[in-house]
Amino acid sequence: MADDLRDGDGTRVVRAGLPAEEPYAPPLPGPALTAHYHLPGDVAGAPYAYGRDANPTWTALERAVAELEAPGDPAATATVFASGMAAISAVLLSRVGPGDAVVLPSDGYNLLASVGERLRGWGVEVRTAPTAGDAQLGVLDGAALLWLETPSNPGLDVCDIRRLADAAHERGALVAVDNTLATPLGQRPLALGADYAVASGTKALTGHGDVLLGYVVCRDEELAEPVRLWRKTVGAIPGPMESWLAHRSLATLELRTARQAANALAVAEALREHPGVSDVRHPGLPDDPAHEAAARQMRRFGCVVSFTLPDKGFAERFLAALRLVGEATSFGGVRSTAERRGRWGGDAVPEGFVRLSVGVEDAADLVADVRAALERATG
Ligand SMILES: *Cc1c(COP(=O)(O)O)cnc(C)c1O
Repeated sequence: MADDLRDGDGTRVVRAGLPAEEPYAPPLPGPALTAHYHLPGDVAGAPYAYGRDANPTWTALERAVAELEAPGDPAATATVFASGMAAISAVLLSRVGPGDAVVLPSDGYNLLASVGERLRGWGVEVRTAPTAGDAQLGVLDGAALLWLETPSNPGLDVCDIRRLADAAHERGALVAVDNTLATPLGQRPLALGADYAVASGTKALTGHGDVLLGYVVCRDEELAEPVRLWRKTVGAIPGPMESWLAHRSLATLELRTARQAANALAVAEALREHPGVSDVRHPGLPDDPAHEAAARQMRRFGCVVSFTLPDKGFAERFLAALRLVGEATSFGGVRSTAERRGRWGGDAVPEGFVRLSVGVEDAADLVADVRAALERATG
């Protein structure tokens, strides 16, 4: 079903990736649960041969994801993975080799540093710089690949994708953007000059906290082919059931992200009013340090709010006192969740730092819950 650019986001997501209408066929075919396909004779050009290479349920989801990340670009292709980390590793490990230099954010998703360590062990020069202030610009010379994560998780800093992509391309480097936090409705890295849009679909994209998924979208078959071959080689494939659940969830992406962004802003504003709360960050807050850059390149500001409470004990009391916000990691789900990031030890954050993922509940209920929990934590 061809993507029509005249349509708004809400219309496009409910139709994304659906096959052409056929009498008596389901609009979104169910998961193809199969390890192999009937495969007579010559195998050259067979679209489906073995379940580690291809699956029609992936194909439909990949069309949908490509339509959303690169509207109107028939050359764009998506490759779906078992998780966001599988997608991230596929780009970095398939593209970069001994003697190459890569530039990673120093404040990106915490497991990115583990991939960086692996690359170092293979003789790759790994450079890092913070997301804020486009600081990665300063370490680009001679790099083969620039990796951006904007907004960054969990600090919510933003860099200028267009500016960094132009500078990287001038130096012959490829550019990948982790688009997990924004989702393709919030930000389109390929239109801003990136070569790869990469994301964890586990978070806001699928939004129900019941699926792990990742994807890579590129416009160029020369870039896409090694990524697909990597998936087949290491077997980092999503299950057909997860792929189908993900595709089904895309239909509500516009509803969810619109509601979550509005709720996040309301919660961020309420947090700011409390004297015990400092450094409230959300790219949608008009005076947030990241707002100007975010407003230039983002269409929606996402569901994550981060802030700092006076200490670890205060943060733990706050989290325990919340009625509507579950203590959990991950983000982007329909149910609000929060956690003290310091409990993992991986992020450079204060002990009282909380990442709150705002769900689709009623804003007034969430604001009241957050206010009440702050009062109880204050004691
Ligand atoms: C969660 C996350 C990942 C990893 O995704 P998984 O699906 O958990 O493997 C990567 N990048 C960002 C920004 C994330 O938030």
